[in-house]
Amino acid sequence: MSVATVIERCEALFEDLHFKSVGAWKAAVPGRKAIGYLPIYVPREIVHAAGMLPVGIFGGGDQFEVIQGDAYYQSYICRIPRSTLELGLTGRLDVLDGMLFPSICDVIRNLSGMWQVLFKDKYVKYFDLPQDYSDSTGGNFYVHEMQALRKDLSALSGNEISDEKLNASIGVYNENRKAVRDLYAYRAREPWQAPTSEVYLVLRAGCVLPPEEHTQLIMQYLAETEKQKRPQRDNARVVLTGSFCEQPPLSLIKSIEMAGCYVVDDDLQLIQSWLLDDVSLEKNPLQALSEAFLHRSASTASKYDEKKSDKGQFLLHQVKTRGAEGVIFAAASFCDPALLERPMLQEILAKHKIPYTAFKYAENTGQMAPIREQAGTFADSIKLWSAA
Ligand code: SF4
Repeated sequence: MSVATVIERCEALFEDLHFKSVGAWKAAVPGRKAIGYLPIYVPREIVHAAGMLPVGIFGGGDQFEVIQGDAYYQSYICRIPRSTLELGLTGRLDVLDGMLFPSICDVIRNLSGMWQVLFKDKYVKYFDLPQDYSDSTGGNFYVHEMQALRKDLSALSGNEISDEKLNASIGVYNENRKAVRDLYAYRAREPWQAPTSEVYLVLRAGCVLPPEEHTQLIMQYLAETEKQKRPQRDNARVVLTGSFCEQPPLSLIKSIEMAGCYVVDDDLQLIQSWLLDDVSLEKNPLQALSEAFLHRSASTASKYDEKKSDKGQFLLHQVKTRGAEGVIFAAASFCDPALLERPMLQEILAKHKIPYTAFKYAENTGQMAPIREQAGTFADSIKLWSAA
């Protein structure tokens, strides 16, 4: 085993838009089922506790031609709903027995409606997340939503989701989240040892692998990359933010790195780091999941900030704790949540004298030269500025 072998495996999973690994997982034990979910967050523990495989669907990427999907959306809408529809209409998602559409924006909400009309034989749920962060209102609402999902998935899988099963699944995901935290901490410490183009692929594998296997994979990557010493460069340390839903092409991440930036934190696969620490195993499991969501979760544009003073605090914390020297705002074109929040975050960074730059992308953006130039100039200006 070597870093190259681990990354090769992740790459194969990343490029497989027929989700063959999910098909193989189902075929290994007759009766197994898989449930897809859209970004950004769903409580995967409930799917896992039903004995099902949660599968993250992050669009079609830059190698996938969208033909039919374009007919369903206006041109001024991001690309992920079109490519997701294309995946569905071309039978690539037939391996899934259902889909969860979390309430992150109107586009995903509309997509859930389309799914109900187009794929009548599949389980489809628009999964509402609370926008009130008190236990008595948002918490009760969220527990109710999770309870409804638990009931649906118990029926669909034929496996009653008991509290014991849920706690066991929470334990599995706690381990997975710890491995992700270790990976992020390692990258922030020695970004030359764990380039984001690799870290991203390792994380993306978590969209299709069972969590137990994914945890092992992360640990394997960390062990292998530690053995293989790589040169340290005088790059600028940056936080990449705004890319939580539609994903940038891998070549864009590589371009940012080649331009002289070390990405020391990001929100690319936010579902895997959304809950910031372990979910308690000592409480009613749905209550514990709710409390973790409400009180110990990452911040993103699709979450409501109760107080104006809360806006940007999470980003500032990322910059500070990761030792970042600047922020790159990279959001999908037409992504309302990310692009509406951007000016507010920029204002806060400016107040704290933290340099930033910003651009937009689509999952199939092909021209990297302008982005490489922009990221390169940004990295250079940081280096010149900090040397002054
Ligand atoms: S990229 Fe933005 S606008 Fe598009 S579906 Fe995702 S969150 Fe919504």
